[in-house]
Amino acid sequence: MICSLCPRLCGAERNASMGLGVCQMSETARVARVAPHMWEEPCISGSRGSGTIFFSGCSLGCAYCQNHEISHALRGKDVTDEELSRLIARLEQTGVHNISFVTGTHFVPAILRALRLHKPGVPVIWNTGGYERVETLRMLEGHVDIYLPDLKHVSPRLGKVLCNAPDYFDYAADAILEMLRQTGEPVYDASGMMLRGVVIRHLMLPGCTGDSLKVLDWISQHVPKETPVSIMRQYTPIAACKVKGLDRRVTDAEYDRVVEYASNLQLNALIQEKEAAQTAYIPDFDMK
Ligand code: SF4
Repeated sequence: MICSLCPRLCGAERNASMGLGVCQMSETARVARVAPHMWEEPCISGSRGSGTIFFSGCSLGCAYCQNHEISHALRGKDVTDEELSRLIARLEQTGVHNISFVTGTHFVPAILRALRLHKPGVPVIWNTGGYERVETLRMLEGHVDIYLPDLKHVSPRLGKVLCNAPDYFDYAADAILEMLRQTGEPVYDASGMMLRGVVIRHLMLPGCTGDSLKVLDWISQHVPKETPVSIMRQYTPIAACKVKGLDRRVTDAEYDRVVEYASNLQLNALIQEKEAAQTAYIPDFDMK
């Protein structure tokens, strides 16, 4: 296929074994990790975990990526549509609350084919960096119950420096509005687990508090108040990131300022404990 799945709009040729686009991925889904994940938001992880399927490669490629091993180094195992559907079924059998596709944008056609072979009986989550085309999200309509998008930054300069995407915010903002259109208001079961809806995530970056406030301003002005907004403090410096200023964690003062701002805007903010800022929260990728 000639690919235009993500905002990079490479127009690159991709076939079953080769991919010439920015993401470097062929059309065949490559999976890096399949496992229950306990450290998502409480309404997503619950007591039995979220059934995460991490895909290799990424069309955004943030310099500080917390999943650098798979997004940049491209570790993982190629799987057929049938194999992917069996992975989904086996993960569901472990009793997880949901099936969560992590960074699957560049594999949307393969994921949809796998979902047609096995439709889980639990909610399906689309966990994304937010750099999505509305046209591609519409392909997912009716297949995804919960969207878990990042809204990373507003500034085009940050978009350029951190992920070579000065248009990041424009795409992410439109994508979140499309996700909200598809899901409507959040729906929970009796135990508080989300069944349908959108949870917006904002990973705070050191020294970028001013931009974080702009992210919250946009959410306040464009997103229904009941939408959960997860303010994350677990940013962990990685050796591969050479961007000045990103070599430390977020301070208590930075986090408290952003949380207070969210409170003043009366957002439905989900707050993270300080213990979350540990490397242990970065998944260990090992797909055998
Ligand atoms: S998914 Fe990959 S090949 Fe397709 S447009 Fe995006 S970066 Fe390019």
